[in-house]
Amino acid sequence: MATILCVLYDDPVSGYPTTYARDGLPQLERYPGGQTLPTPSAIDFTPGELLGSVSGELGLRSFLEGHGHTLIVTSDKEGPDSEFERRLPEADVVISQPFWPAYLTAERIAKAPNLKLALTAGIGSDHVDLDAAIEHGVTVAEVTYCNSISVAEHVVMMILSLVRNYLPSHRWVLDDGWNIADCVERAYDVEGMDIGTVAAGRIGLAVLRRLAPFDVRLHYTDRHRLPAEVERELNLTYHPDARSMVPHCDVVTINAPLHHETRNLFDDDLLATMRRGAYLINTARGLIVDRDAIVRALESGQLAGYAGDVWYPQPAPADHPWRTMPHHGMTPHISGSTLSAQARYAAGTREILESFFAGSPIRDEYLIVDGGRLAGTGAHSYSAKG
Ligand code: NDP
Repeated sequence: MATILCVLYDDPVSGYPTTYARDGLPQLERYPGGQTLPTPSAIDFTPGELLGSVSGELGLRSFLEGHGHTLIVTSDKEGPDSEFERRLPEADVVISQPFWPAYLTAERIAKAPNLKLALTAGIGSDHVDLDAAIEHGVTVAEVTYCNSISVAEHVVMMILSLVRNYLPSHRWVLDDGWNIADCVERAYDVEGMDIGTVAAGRIGLAVLRRLAPFDVRLHYTDRHRLPAEVERELNLTYHPDARSMVPHCDVVTINAPLHHETRNLFDDDLLATMRRGAYLINTARGLIVDRDAIVRALESGQLAGYAGDVWYPQPAPADHPWRTMPHHGMTPHISGSTLSAQARYAAGTREILESFFAGSPIRDEYLIVDGGRLAGTGAHSYSAKG
């Protein structure tokens, strides 16, 4: 029987909810492009419930305990005295969400002799040292597509909120003001702007599709070019890399995974090549940008705004400079953890566990590392060292 160590974010400060703002969720048939939604044999939760926090347990307890497994759920993940680190040596499976990542470093993987599966309840497995997973024969899997559209919607929201100066204007209302000029002195229309995405995978392409009706000029860069009919349909301009794309953009959105090629991509040098007053949206990973270079660019006016939901480390410390830098629209890491997304990634987590325990193959599109090498989606979107 297996021990499953599951690291989830804390319950709401007001306690685990007993009622919800809406009754149920819309029914989706398929993801865009045709991939099927998760297909576990059953689920033990009601879609629309809070599943990603400690008391939600991703809806897994009765399934796992019913099969004789041990489920440990904790939010305590930092440092050698954390419950995560203390229980790691007995874990066969570690489940973690990118929003509250249990960093599986090479040192931690070395301390987990039983570990066979690192499962991301979400998308983005960069909190796992993939090279160490490859070396130790640990399978890494994630619930591909579960929250891609959730993030794409968040990106569009953040572009509009920055360009139109929404958050400072809302602040004036909370402060009993009616300060039109203060609100509009930094407000523009998105119409006519050049908007580019670094990566046009599931999220990046969904962002492009959602922006097309705004009558903007769309740009993208990616390691693989999109089909010619998609480029034509959305009137896309392709650039071979970020460096050649960003000087042509008023808004840049980052939608690439964090790996060797993208770490620290947006440094002082690249930011300096952007149009003065450009906006940068990063919902991909905090380490794709240079933290302090972003602060400098906002302070100098090189960037007119920065928004996103990804930081490093997570949770961000109270003194993280992005909390207080000017003209930002940051949230905690939430875009991929709507109640809608949680229902999909909880079901996908169960599907992966069912395959794992049955000894049957995990869907190829869920795999990042398997059999000592990058596999499935991981082989397409990530790169290994060396
Ligand atoms: P996909 O795998 O569908 O797309 C990733 C794309 O990035 C691929 O098209 C890949 O190219 C491209 N890419 C990889 N390296 C580079 C590079 N160096 N330059 C340009 N493009 C590159 O993933 P998703 O769209 O679903 O997710 C993207 C990322 O978004 C995730 O890895 C994760 O980090 C983040 N994310 C954030 C969430 C949040 O809550 N904020 C939730 C979900 C994801 P190709 O495959 O063509 O080689």
